[in-house]
Amino acid sequence: FNHLAAPVAWWAAHAPDQIALVDGAGTWTYAQLNQAIIMVRNTLLSRGSQPGDRVAVLGDNGAAMVALMLGASLAGAWVVPLNPRLSDREIDEIARHATPTCLLFANPGTGRARQHAERCKAQPLTIEGLGPIALAETTHHAPPEPNADVAALIYTSGTTGRPKGVMLTHRNLMISARASGAIRAISPADIVYSVLPISHILGFTGVMLGTLTYGGTIMLAPRFDPPGALRAVLHDHVTMIIGAPSMFALLAEYAALQGMSVLPPHHLRLIASAGAPLDPAVKAAVEACFGMVLNNGYGITECAPTIAQTRIDQPRRDCSVGMLLPGLDARLVGEAGGIGALHLRGPTVMAGYYRDEAATAAVLDADGWFDTGDLAKFENDHLFIVGRSKEQIIRYGFKIYPAEIEAVLNAYPGVRQSAVIGRGDGAHQDIIAFVEPAAGITLHLPDLIDYTANRLADYKRPAEIRLAAALPMGATGKVQKASLIA
Ligand code: ATP
Repeated sequence: FNHLAAPVAWWAAHAPDQIALVDGAGTWTYAQLNQAIIMVRNTLLSRGSQPGDRVAVLGDNGAAMVALMLGASLAGAWVVPLNPRLSDREIDEIARHATPTCLLFANPGTGRARQHAERCKAQPLTIEGLGPIALAETTHHAPPEPNADVAALIYTSGTTGRPKGVMLTHRNLMISARASGAIRAISPADIVYSVLPISHILGFTGVMLGTLTYGGTIMLAPRFDPPGALRAVLHDHVTMIIGAPSMFALLAEYAALQGMSVLPPHHLRLIASAGAPLDPAVKAAVEACFGMVLNNGYGITECAPTIAQTRIDQPRRDCSVGMLLPGLDARLVGEAGGIGALHLRGPTVMAGYYRDEAATAAVLDADGWFDTGDLAKFENDHLFIVGRSKEQIIRYGFKIYPAEIEAVLNAYPGVRQSAVIGRGDGAHQDIIAFVEPAAGITLHLPDLIDYTANRLADYKRPAEIRLAAALPMGATGKVQKASLIA
């Protein structure tokens, strides 16, 4: 498939009654979803939409969000997906940068989408069968972009800084969807439960496009909630869950609170974690609960996003992220002791950052090599992510990777999660750890300090461990380290 909307059209022609999507409001066959996508396209074209216009689409997971994004794409627009959890300031900042001709809202009657729709003075838009949607014209008069290859402008989650608009082409996205779906062996028999927002690249490609490419069914909840996810697993014949590690951890924790430290028989054949480091303690706890291996995968918005994935038929005990996607070349720059900065080249690497040549040139060289900003190593062709280059802590000349210290802290009974950052610059940074206890647990700090002292070399020990009732989490289940103050 060479266009975001092509899989739905193909399955609508070949298996029209196959279920494409289930959301809280009902069930959509491929034929119905295709019809909705065409109606969205027609509506936009009748309003004068031009190929290369940027069209922002804001909404929680649901059929309307899928139809609006793919319909805008079919009209030739560059789709700019927005998560309703973004703040007013973030949305304004993205809109100023992307200069969309309009903002479309899925389900503007509920939750944060309603607040955003009201603030942007969106007007209801009727598209038969699609449920409530709304449209806000913008005051931007930026001309359409000539580059017809670009399909989506995805703003990065901003874990480490200001959001950047990643230009991904139809080819980038469809190659990624096809490859990651193949590694997961998705078929029309699968029901893939999305605990990730489809406005985020992993939900967008890995779940939405990956499932639709292979004629599977996507089950969408408006947002991640452990009771709903557990119900889906136990009662709705879900066969796959793709999510962030923290979501699996919360799911296992919730199941245990319900008296199911081991889940009763279910139909899952794959649980796949991606998007953030998978902690060994989390992997072990989730596997014990689900009675199956938790696969790990690694991606980044700039690579559409999947870079490596463990294969469904090659489960791993360790936290390797698996083998590179076919077609990707890798090199480790500045390698020492097997660890280096991971650079990649291949068909899924972005076209660049929108309107930001300097930022593009900083990560993408003239030969097409992209610097992921992550430190990695290979063992027998299997990739391990050691940490982010920016988050590496230097202490007395030693290189310290926060993930190693976090793994020790997370293994301590009663710790839900932790985040380690450096304080100061230069060669003598201090290590600061933030620790979030599990529900109902009171942690005794001196014991935790003793525990780490017994398990970490002296230069790796935190100078300070602070308890935090809840670590700041982004919409995609990652700790937002930039907002932790050392
Ligand atoms: P910003 O670039 O604005 O800071 P972000 O980096 O969080 O946002 P994403 O593209 O969503 O944007 O995240 C990609 C990053 O997530 C990777 O570079 C990597 O550091 C981390 N990551 C993703 N999957 C894994 C994994 N399986 N193991 C370890 N790290 C991972």
